[in-house]
Amino acid sequence: MLLPGHPDWAGKMGEYWEFGEQAAQEIAHDFASGPLDHYETGRNDMAAEDSSRLSPYLRLGVISPRQVWHICADKGAKTDREIYLSELGWRDFSWYTLFHNPHLPDRNLKTQFDALGWRRSRKDLIAWQKGQTGIPVIDAGMRQLWETGWMHNRARMIVASFLAKHLLIDWRQGEAWFWDTLIDADPASNAVNWQWVAGTGIEASPFFRIFNPLRQTEKFDPKGDYIRRWVPELARLPDEALAAPWEAESAVLEKAAVTLGKTYPKPVVSLNEGRDRAMAAYRKTRAS
Ligand SMILES: Cc1cc2nc3c(=O)[nH]c(=O)nc-3n(C[C@H](O)[C@H](O)[C@H](O)COP(=O)(O)OP(=O)(O)OC[C@H]3O[C@@H](n4cnc5c(N)ncnc54)[C@H](O)[C@@H]3O)c2cc1C
Repeated sequence: MLLPGHPDWAGKMGEYWEFGEQAAQEIAHDFASGPLDHYETGRNDMAAEDSSRLSPYLRLGVISPRQVWHICADKGAKTDREIYLSELGWRDFSWYTLFHNPHLPDRNLKTQFDALGWRRSRKDLIAWQKGQTGIPVIDAGMRQLWETGWMHNRARMIVASFLAKHLLIDWRQGEAWFWDTLIDADPASNAVNWQWVAGTGIEASPFFRIFNPLRQTEKFDPKGDYIRRWVPELARLPDEALAAPWEAESAVLEKAAVTLGKTYPKPVVSLNEGRDRAMAAYRKTRAS
């Protein structure tokens, strides 16, 4: 097998991923006879392992989308199955879009956004890349990516929105980081999804849709399991303080051994101010 040896830069990946065609087949069959049955809700629970996790195998051609389709074809509840199969469709749609728009990874599809005044902040970009933004759900997603080479889809949407909207950093910087770090990095899916979140692409979410990291945590990590796993320095905080530690009473922080600015960063941006700044910048592109 062609595995790196000196140095073994991919060593950790072996802890999280099994390699080879047989592994991909087993993962697909286990998914089809298990989590597929509740995929509609399970796929949004960031702590659960309820999506198929087939993306690296699909990306690398270890399993084909047609094989996955047939393995799932008569399995699970109808609605859940249909939603799952439609996700395979998004993958193909992304390739269709890239084929017709070869500059998708580096140009806004909606050219009105070429006038958008992105911020250049290396400090904020690095905080985002390293999972040190001070916003727990963002840091959890970015650390899961760094550690495992994969990030939950819901988390991908939240961290991408945070970069392009709250931090107002060019989505291409985020796309490039994902390209370097994702084990399933795919030129089509990565670019289509980044442009979708940034509001600059095809079938894009409207520019004024800005994911609120706190509401997203409430909905998709209600018990804080995802945050506790990937941001262990906050693990002892009570559930109600976990999403926004900067709002917690100092006695609560002290009891959980959390010192903001020392054991865990203060937020790089106020969520309200970041949101307002993004709205203003995006709106300006309509006037120009
Ligand atoms: C900002 C951003 C960047 C992304 N970059 C990539 C990327 O580089 N490579 C990649 O494969 N996916 C990417 N995605 C899509 C999605 O997050 C992953 O495909 C999914 O999380 C993979 O996990 P899974 O196999 O458990 O997915 P499941 O939920 O089990 O879905 C099954 C398969 O459908 C396909 N799929 C699911 N969602 C999407 C989607 N939104 N767009 C296109 N195909 C999809 C994937 O091949 C996936 O393996 C990105 C999403 C976002 C928001």
